[in-house]
Amino acid sequence: MGKFDFITDEIAGLKEAGLYNRIRTIETPQGAWITVDGKKTLNMCSNNYLGLAGEKRLVDKAKEYMDLYGAGPGAVRSIAGTMSFHHELEKKLAEFKEAEDVLSLQSGFVANQAVIPSALSSSEDAVFTDELNHASIIDGVRLSKAKRFIYAHNNPADLEKKLKEAVNARNKLIITDGVFSMDGDIAPLKEICDLADKYGAMTMVDDAHGEGVLGPYGKGIAHHLGVHGRIDFEIGTLSKAFGIMGGFVAGKKEIIDFLRQKARPFLFSSAVTPADAGASIAAVDILSESDERVKKLWENTNFFKENMKKLGFDTGISETPITPVMLGEASKAQKFSAKLFEKGIFAMSIGFPTVPRGKARIRVMLSASHSIDDLKWALEVFEETGKELEVI
Ligand SMILES: *Cc1c(COP(=O)(O)O)cnc(C)c1O
Repeated sequence: MGKFDFITDEIAGLKEAGLYNRIRTIETPQGAWITVDGKKTLNMCSNNYLGLAGEKRLVDKAKEYMDLYGAGPGAVRSIAGTMSFHHELEKKLAEFKEAEDVLSLQSGFVANQAVIPSALSSSEDAVFTDELNHASIIDGVRLSKAKRFIYAHNNPADLEKKLKEAVNARNKLIITDGVFSMDGDIAPLKEICDLADKYGAMTMVDDAHGEGVLGPYGKGIAHHLGVHGRIDFEIGTLSKAFGIMGGFVAGKKEIIDFLRQKARPFLFSSAVTPADAGASIAAVDILSESDERVKKLWENTNFFKENMKKLGFDTGISETPITPVMLGEASKAQKFSAKLFEKGIFAMSIGFPTVPRGKARIRVMLSASHSIDDLKWALEVFEETGKELEVI
């Protein structure tokens, strides 16, 4: 017995089950057409919803901010690493979200680690979390001392049952993804906010796939569902529609001030760089100036989804540009993805543990950077592949 046998066994098991993830390498900037492992392909799996990741205005602003402020912040923010561009970024994001204040963090993943253990620091607290919440929420919950109540997916009746069970808890926090990243469905925020009011619970929404996608000018799911101002902790990412890297929390001034005192990723890890902040500021400016990209994203989404359904594909319950193509077994999804790649489409398969066993899929992500001609061609390739693998 060697001490690394468990690793050898685990990897062999993953390969056997068709779950071993072979990560491909992209050699060009993000955009509709990219070079992947030496091959030119149509990019149908990035979160670059608005085509901002490769946008020149973002690159120019990143360079400008590096010229102005250098390469890095030099220290953790609370000690000696808060620079004026961090404040500028937070102010910009607060305006965009129409929130009193914003705390900038290193990523969306980290933002969840920052908020949850800060809000729930005692075993007398209770957390109510949707069973399909993102891994970063699950890990954030694990870091808190609160008693856990996992409610059935998007099910306010089950949430209420759990709230009743924990009626005597000290702090209560309800947490949900805004848009669920694997199925593309949307949380019932109005009902959740009503229950939060009724039981005196705080609300937290992770809007990673909603910002830049939902609501006027892509302001996010709270605006889309008419609950703006009722979400206590709005988590955002700059790595999806904004096209860069970074995370943030938007909320009331007092809440953000509290996080500046308590959130461990803020207190013990350095912050985003001048280039990240510059590019993020440019992205927010572009979004605030025009909703053209958001509209194009939805035009592409509606066109592609309608035609996939007409072809006979099962695209699940998505209400957003996230378009799962349901294929069942992980090995089938892997084969489908490999065939697409041979034909020039980059769309990765997703299997367990990211989605439940037997629910493997290709997750197609639409972007404003696609042209209708790109999508017409993609539909032909999906049709041909679907017939070859007897999916349709
Ligand atoms: C992608 C995603 C994250 C992580 O965001 P990063 O900024 O890439 O760390 C967090 N939560 C949800 C729901 C996500 O989809």
